[in-house]
Amino acid sequence: MTFADLGLSPEVLKAVDDSGYTTPTPIQEKAIPYVLMGRDVLGTAQTGTGKTASFTLPMIDILASGHTKARMPRSLILEPTRELAAQVSENFEQYGKYSKLSMALLIGGVSFSDQEAKLDRGVDVLIATPGRLLDHFERGKVLLNGVKTLVIDEADRMMDMGFIPDVERIVSLMPPLRQTLFFSATMSKDMRKLADKFLMNPKEVKVEAPSMAASTVVQGLIHVMKREKRPAIRQMLKGEGVKNSFIFCNRKKDVDILLGSLTKHGFNAGGLHGDMSQSHRMETLAKFKSGEISHLVCSDVAARGIDVSNVSHVFNFDVPTHAEDYVHRIGRTGRAGQEGNAFTLTNKGDEKYLAAIYKTIGKEIPKIELEGMEDIAAEGVDIDSRAKRQPKSRNARDGSSRRAPNPTREARPARGPRPTRDTKPVRETKPETQVEAVAAAPVAVEPVVEVKPQATDRNAKPKKTQRPRRSRYNRDDDDNPVLGLGENVPAFFKIEMRKSVEK
Ligand code: AMP
Repeated sequence: MTFADLGLSPEVLKAVDDSGYTTPTPIQEKAIPYVLMGRDVLGTAQTGTGKTASFTLPMIDILASGHTKARMPRSLILEPTRELAAQVSENFEQYGKYSKLSMALLIGGVSFSDQEAKLDRGVDVLIATPGRLLDHFERGKVLLNGVKTLVIDEADRMMDMGFIPDVERIVSLMPPLRQTLFFSATMSKDMRKLADKFLMNPKEVKVEAPSMAASTVVQGLIHVMKREKRPAIRQMLKGEGVKNSFIFCNRKKDVDILLGSLTKHGFNAGGLHGDMSQSHRMETLAKFKSGEISHLVCSDVAARGIDVSNVSHVFNFDVPTHAEDYVHRIGRTGRAGQEGNAFTLTNKGDEKYLAAIYKTIGKEIPKIELEGMEDIAAEGVDIDSRAKRQPKSRNARDGSSRRAPNPTREARPARGPRPTRDTKPVRETKPETQVEAVAAAPVAVEPVVEVKPQATDRNAKPKKTQRPRRSRYNRDDDDNPVLGLGENVPAFFKIEMRKSVEK
C-alpha cells in the first residue's frame, strides 16, 4: 500500500514525499480513508505510530475547500500538553506546505495578543490545549460554532490530567453536525463511554502499541536506597554509550533538584516540567532536540509524544506510579527501530508500582547492578547525614499546615555533595540486558538540604525565617497568578513618608 492508494491529494502526497515517508503506517492505512469519507473515527493508537499524520493528512484535504471567517475556526485539534500541541502544529506546517491553510496554536504561557491577532484573521485549523482555548472563548475571542472537524487527541492523557470537564464544555459549544476523530493510547471502559458522548457511529481503528518498545530497548532495574539516587544517576550518565537522555522524575520539584545537582556536577542538562514558563519549555526542548543540551530532566509532561530522534537513554529517577507512564517514558528511546536503553532506579516501597508495570509490559524488568556502588553508598550516607544536620522547618516541627511549603524541601539542591570517583561502567547481572551505561540520581524524598554552615551551638534555635526559594522556572510563568500588584507597583506607593511629613 502506498500513500497514493489512500486517496490523498497531489499536494499532500508531495509533502509526504518530501518528508521521506514511502509507506503509510498501519494507523495511517486504516484511518485516512475513513477520515476522507467524513466518518467519525475512534482510534486506539499511541504516539510513535504515525498517528498525527493519520488525521493531519486527510484534514488538509478536507479543509482545502471552504473559507475562513474571523474568530470562527473551521477545525479544532485538542491536545493535552503544550508540547504535543506545538508538535502537531509543526506537523501541519510540514504536511500542509503546498496547501494554503491558515493555522493558529493556542497554548498557555504564550502571549494572548499574537494568538488573538491570528484568530481575528480567521483560521482553518486551530490547535489548542483545553484551558487556553476556554480562556479565549471566555474573552469572546473565539467562536466554536463553525468547527466542522474536531480531533480529540490523547484522550486518556486528557482524562489523567483532569481535562475532561473542559473538553466536554468545549464540545458543547460546537455544532452537533461535525466530524469527530477521537484518539487514545488505551481504550478502557471509561474511555469508550466518553467517546460515545462525542462520536456518531464511528469507525473503530486500532493499532497495537509500537512494540511496548521492548524489542529495541534494553531495559534494566537498579535497586538503590533513596539517598543513593543522585550519585547513582551521575554514575550512569558517565557510562559508555550515554550520548543523551531523558531523565524522568515523578515530581516537579525533584526535576528542579536533580537538574541543579547535575548542572553543579558539570553535566550538560536542562529541565522540563509543567511549572516552567512556556517560552522556557520550548527553548529547552529545542536545545535538547538540536543537541545543545544532552540530558533533559523532566516530569511526565515530556513522556508522551515528544518526538526526538536518536535518544540513547531514558532514565527513570523514580518508578512511575502509573504503569502506562513507564511505557510512554521508555518509548522516548529506541524510536523508529533504533536501539535504545531504559534504566529505572527503584527503592523500597516501589514494589506495587513495579508489579503493575510488569503486568502492563508482560514481563519483569531485569535487575542490574551498578559498579561503583560502594562509592555511591558512601555518598548517599554523606547526603543523608548532611540532610539530618539541617534545622527542620517550622512546619515540619509543629506539624501545622500540611499544605504549607516546607522551605527546606522547596529549596535548591544540596550543596557540595562530594565528587564521586565513580566512572566505572555498569556490570550486568543478566545476560540479555546489554547494558551500556547506567545512571544514578538524586535523593527524591529526603529533605533537601540547603546546607548552611552548621551551627556550632547544638542548642541554638534554628533560624525562624527561612523563606522558601522560588523555583527558577516559576519566575515568569504565565499560568501562575500574580498575587497583589506583582511588579507593577504604582509610583505613588513608593513615595517616601519622610517627604510628605516635611511639607
Ligand atoms: P506520531 O505517532 O505521529 O508521533 O509519529 C511518530 C514519528 O513517525 C514522527 O517522527 C513522524 O514524523 C514519523 N512518521 C509518521 N508517518 C510516518 C511514515 N509513514 N513513515 C515513517 N515515519 C513516519
